[in-house]
Amino acid sequence: MKVGVVGAGFVGAAAANALVLRHVATDVVLVDVNETKAAAEAADIAHVTPFSAPVRVGAGGYEQLAGSAVVVITAGRAQQPGQSRLELLRANARILRSVVAEVVAAAPDAVLLVATNPVDVMTRVIEQHAGLGGGRVFGTGTMLDTARFRQIVAARVGVDVTHVHGYVVGEHGDSEVLIWSSLDVAGRHLAAFVHAMGGAFGQEDRAEVEDEVVNAAERIIRGKGATYYGVAAAIAGAVEVILRNRRSIMTVSAWTPEYGCSLSLPRLVSGPGVIRELGVSMDGGERSRLERSAEILRGALAQIGT
Ligand code: NAD
Repeated sequence: MKVGVVGAGFVGAAAANALVLRHVATDVVLVDVNETKAAAEAADIAHVTPFSAPVRVGAGGYEQLAGSAVVVITAGRAQQPGQSRLELLRANARILRSVVAEVVAAAPDAVLLVATNPVDVMTRVIEQHAGLGGGRVFGTGTMLDTARFRQIVAARVGVDVTHVHGYVVGEHGDSEVLIWSSLDVAGRHLAAFVHAMGGAFGQEDRAEVEDEVVNAAERIIRGKGATYYGVAAAIAGAVEVILRNRRSIMTVSAWTPEYGCSLSLPRLVSGPGVIRELGVSMDGGERSRLERSAEILRGALAQIGT
């Protein structure tokens, strides 16, 4: 199955590489306004295939996306010095409106997976302009934040991350909400698990985890200029769920009528895209923080007139 990646920057190239390393697709095609960059990334990633799997890796114009089962959208700009968040929002919305028209014309049956930031707002822009049926457009949302939450808690309590189930919901950004009240470690509430291990996990630990999760991207960007491996793995994971009909539960971003914006909640995802939204048990404080997060996202949509 073919997977298209629009935007061959840090995120797009790392995602294409992850798709090849995991042998998720048979064909991976990179499309970018910078055709030289897309072709060079495709050539570099093609040299991975003898060490992974026989995936055809190419680059080209939008017509090369024909027959794609999934198109991942990572095109856009990073915030420029002196540029406001709103200016960036408007610039990326403009870029994605033109990208989506080309993508849908070339690959009308594809599921569209959006990673461009601010991802919740961009997911809504794409969804509105793609004119596709429900569930076929969604964003990576808080997949990465959820992964960070699980990984950081697992490291702190000293267990393998597969035993930690917890979700980050709302905006992929500062207002995201870590759901502590239903965090589960090996089938037990965090406090009970930590007690059984003979340890402790207090408010201070909690605040430190919150800080590590919410400010992870900022710290990585300060150190190396961009984040891409984590989101690339999230993209490859989501594409695999679609291509293999895995029926996985992931905190992806999608239009959420009760909140009037696109935001992340745990959702059942499989071949057709998002199949249904699943609730998550929250306490009153978490619920009001989620409402606040939705309010911020509604404000951003209003600012770009969506
Ligand atoms: P980048 O600047 O390295 O790459 C962006 C690419 O988009 C460039 O190669 C550029 O040429 C291309 N592009 C611009 N306009 C285009 C158009 N009209 N058509 C086709 N291609 C076009 O940036 P990056 O680090 O790869 O980040 C890409 C996006 O992903 C950013 O918005 C970034 O904030 C976002 N991101 C999201 C997450 C997440 O968790 N969702 C994580 C990291 C980064």
